[in-house]
Amino acid sequence: MNGADRTGGCLCGAVRFTARDLAEEFGICHCETCRRWTGSALLGVAFPEEKIAWTGVEHICRYQSSSWAERAWCARCGTGLFFRATGDTPYSGEIELPLGIFDDPNGFVATHEIYIDHKPDSYSYAGGGRKTLTRADCVAKFPRLDDA
Ligand SMILES: [Zn+2]
Ligand SMILES: [Zn+2]
Repeated sequence: MNGADRTGGCLCGAVRFTARDLAEEFGICHCETCRRWTGSALLGVAFPEEKIAWTGVEHICRYQSSSWAERAWCARCGTGLFFRATGDTPYSGEIELPLGIFDDPNGFVATHEIYIDHKPDSYSYAGGGRKTLTRADCVAKFPRLDDA
């Protein structure tokens, strides 16, 4: 599923991107930080940061949402743009874009769903076949998450 180029951008169009050679997969995260940031769950498309080219970077605002990660948005329209690992962590160089900001969000496959034990009981994502992890599973795998 590698090799696709995808474009996207924010609601007002001030910030645009092209993601090259993208694996067309995404993860669903129900952690509290993603829930507050997105208003629901993060449907995040993760890939190496060097595969993305931005325009309108002067409109990008960033918030350090934990000791090891930041979240960014468009200063003009408020659209959430990305989650990014900062500093020296095993996830450095990774960026995660919300599926909904791609111009064409079709054709992606949900491969994993994390913090499943933090999902509100009022909604669920349909379909199966994806890997599910609890918060404890995630922290066991990536100890820095304890500080998310
Ligand atoms: Zn915007
Ligand atoms: Zn999350």
